[in-house]
Amino acid sequence: MSDQKVRVRFAPSPTGGLHLGGVRTVLFNYLFAKKHNGTFVLRIEDTDQSRYVDGAENYIVECLKWCGLMPDESPQAGGPFAPYRQSERKSLYREYAEKLVMHGHAYYAFDTTEELEQKRAAIPNFQYGMAYREDMRNSISLPQQEVDQLLDAGTPHVIRIKVPEDETVTFNDMIRGYVSFDTNTVDDKVLLKADGMPTYHLAVVIDDYLMKITHAFRGEEWLPSAPVHLLLWEYLGWIDSMPQWAHLPLILKPDGHGKLSKRDGARLGFPVYAMSWTDPKSGELTEGFRELGFLPEAFVNLLGMLGWNDGTDQEIFTLAELVEKFSIERVSKAGAKFDFEKAKWYNAEWIKKVSGERLMAEVKTALTAKGITVTDDTYLNKATELVKDRLVLTSDIYEHAWYFFKQPEEYDLNAVKPKWTDAKTVLFQEYIQHLQATENWDAAELETNFKAMLTEKGFKIGDAMLPFRIMLVGGKFGPHVFDIAALLGKQEVIARIEKALAAFTA
Ligand code: GLU
Repeated sequence: MSDQKVRVRFAPSPTGGLHLGGVRTVLFNYLFAKKHNGTFVLRIEDTDQSRYVDGAENYIVECLKWCGLMPDESPQAGGPFAPYRQSERKSLYREYAEKLVMHGHAYYAFDTTEELEQKRAAIPNFQYGMAYREDMRNSISLPQQEVDQLLDAGTPHVIRIKVPEDETVTFNDMIRGYVSFDTNTVDDKVLLKADGMPTYHLAVVIDDYLMKITHAFRGEEWLPSAPVHLLLWEYLGWIDSMPQWAHLPLILKPDGHGKLSKRDGARLGFPVYAMSWTDPKSGELTEGFRELGFLPEAFVNLLGMLGWNDGTDQEIFTLAELVEKFSIERVSKAGAKFDFEKAKWYNAEWIKKVSGERLMAEVKTALTAKGITVTDDTYLNKATELVKDRLVLTSDIYEHAWYFFKQPEEYDLNAVKPKWTDAKTVLFQEYIQHLQATENWDAAELETNFKAMLTEKGFKIGDAMLPFRIMLVGGKFGPHVFDIAALLGKQEVIARIEKALAAFTA
């Protein structure tokens, strides 16, 4: 395999939100392409107008951007094989379908929707194929003259593949090894619809060929379609150019029973879509990993580990490391259980790993959503640095850092009042004087001076430390109290002590 020529594609149908399994497919395509200095193509498979959903393509592009998995060629970026939207390629497919008819590998079918419905009602598990095609109205069952007349009269018709009888089709999947299918179980799929649009089956083969795709990664759910595609590659005379396929293992429900669906997410309380998606028809909003507070670095990392590992215990990988370490041989055949707790662990690890600066956009969004206006980025950055080791989701920032942006409204008085004395009131009043005069506003120095003052006045450290914390944040939580004081600044600390003293002595 020459490294230069690797071309892979992600070929989604724009029908709604992008399931995490879809992003994992993108990721493995991307990793394989980058590993081999190849090209990653995004092709929009929008030939099924009945399933087309407004906004879904944009959403997909945004998801890829968010994850940092940018295609080299796409409807947006263009490229040598444009257009990359199948609906814009409509005119090129018919010729291939007609060629298949000419060579006896496909046929015209004139059955109306009602006729097909009648058949389906009459015959349980009806499949349009070998067993029944002679009973239907098509260019195999009807005399040539009648077929010509129907065509001349412009009778609506589809083109179906003629799947051969008693053959075994086999291909070598990069993950699963040799996979075989008995053609007797495969139906005569529609290739070209009455409106002239190709179906997925025809379009995927033609475009993979025309776009010189060398390797095709897709979900295991597409495996049953493989025999149809294989026959088409063969019948179109392109079998030597057929991409190597890799059918990626399913992402399973947490209990391992079946494919993880959007409904499971709703049922178990975690997202399944990469980003939030609002169905334009129903208006229904499905929350995504991004909006819940996942970092794209963590999301990509955890998806990389669903069905792959590098053979060591390493679990935290940057995208660049994944590219470097990725090998298709280490992708497992077995489905990968999705564990939301583990997903959160990845996120927490990533939040610890990156800088406050890197988290800026995410935490700002989360704080804004809680009504906090951040005016000073440097201040926010410092606050984030102080609490980021406690965050699991970036949206946890409010819970852990709100007191950097507003004064406590309530105090844990139970923790203070029983041990409060007039002497303590005096102590903190004197402390205010001391702070007024402090010039070097620095955490270490504040701590040394506070402790020195306590000792001098005959207090134990423990007597005043907790009250001081409660004055600043309202309760028994938060990072090192002098780090908080240092960041809040002199005037704010003094204001909070004064406000709290009033509450403690009321
Ligand atoms: N258009 C298909 C989808 O929606 C692509 C399957 C494939 O990669 O062949 O997922």
